[in-house]
Amino acid sequence: MPAKTNNPNKKTWLSVPLNSDFPIQNIPFGVFLTRDDIITIGTRIGDYAIDLGALHQLGYFEGIPLTDDIFLQDTLNDFISDGKKTWRSVRNRIGEIFDLGNETLQHNEDHQKIVLFSMDEVEMKLPVQIGDYTDFYSSKEHATNVGSMFRDPENALLPNWLHLPVAYHGRSSTIVTSGTPVRRPLGQTYPKGADSPVFGPSKLVDFELEMAFITTDANVLGEPIPIEEAEDYIFGLVLFNDWSARDIQKWEYVPLGPFLAKNFASSISPWIVTLDALEPFRVQSPKQVPEPLPYLRQQGKHSFDITLEVDLTPDKGVPTTITRSNFKYMYWTMAQQMAHHTVNGCKVNSGDMMGSGTISGPGPDSYGSLLELAWQGTKPIKLKDGSERKFIEDNDMVTLRGYCEKENIRIGFGEASTRLLPALEQKEKYYY
Ligand code: CA
Repeated sequence: MPAKTNNPNKKTWLSVPLNSDFPIQNIPFGVFLTRDDIITIGTRIGDYAIDLGALHQLGYFEGIPLTDDIFLQDTLNDFISDGKKTWRSVRNRIGEIFDLGNETLQHNEDHQKIVLFSMDEVEMKLPVQIGDYTDFYSSKEHATNVGSMFRDPENALLPNWLHLPVAYHGRSSTIVTSGTPVRRPLGQTYPKGADSPVFGPSKLVDFELEMAFITTDANVLGEPIPIEEAEDYIFGLVLFNDWSARDIQKWEYVPLGPFLAKNFASSISPWIVTLDALEPFRVQSPKQVPEPLPYLRQQGKHSFDITLEVDLTPDKGVPTTITRSNFKYMYWTMAQQMAHHTVNGCKVNSGDMMGSGTISGPGPDSYGSLLELAWQGTKPIKLKDGSERKFIEDNDMVTLRGYCEKENIRIGFGEASTRLLPALEQKEKYYY
């Protein structure tokens, strides 16, 4: 069954603001708290949040095999677990209900009062209970920049990098949704010139511009997912800011990799945009030389043209767009990441989240972290208010945005916006 709602000529009877990320061609999935304090699964068209639990109770999904309570839940995990055929049927049906030519709900004001909310009267929640979170390191430009800074510009990429999508297992308990503030972490660092490690607030807090995909149950323990099937198990994508404390990272990461420098917080956008909605924006991923091993080889277009931007807004200040990148720069595709992740038989579950890794573009105005944009503090970036940044300062707001555009259709992700709060006050309890 094709994803019918992608037709660029399709129009809805709901009003959609110009340049909205959420035309009827998008139909993302999320979880929100309504004005009546009820938590429900929903979608969004324009600035309307649509209660799918209420639509289902009113019979609008008749004919699609769904359990009665599938949308009356506080996470999307069970719905995602129902598989691609169900996601597609539901998304197509939503497209029909809100199509300009369909009068059923359009002419039923009583039903509209039950299912429609304006975005400012709902509170977005985490869309899935994230069981496991893996973070890849799949942008060649980013890996090259970091390798040049920390090791050797001549051998910036380690020998394994061009042969496999490098990753580490992160921590899901501290993934938060847009709008949730994050506190500057405390930790152990080894500053330049010091003769022993010191303890205190991180001085080098950074953002990482990433996207993350959410999976469904894909395999049984011990069985790999073949690369040609991998995309069938990807529900959709969100924006992902993988907050990082560079000074803690530098001291702790040898030999096992990131730990406390990364697990204090990651922020995501609350609406999951389905892979079906992104279908018209498929593009070729970068050519891979050397050719990867057979289990990682694929033909065709497996990347997506998604413009990514980051704004930095000082406390009470104006936003400055500090970088513009694109998801298509990723060297390793999501399918390659899934195939590699499971090639040893590792099991993937519904609601798992896989981060892309920082997505840096080819030029210095397209880098995906402040570490790179300000080149380790040697080239501070200028903000609109005249101030400079080497790293994120207290009360700065970091906002990630992402969208695709083609044939006058814009499919977007909204934003992942997070304020960095000052570190906990210097009380003995926390400062050993
Ligand atoms: Ca990362």
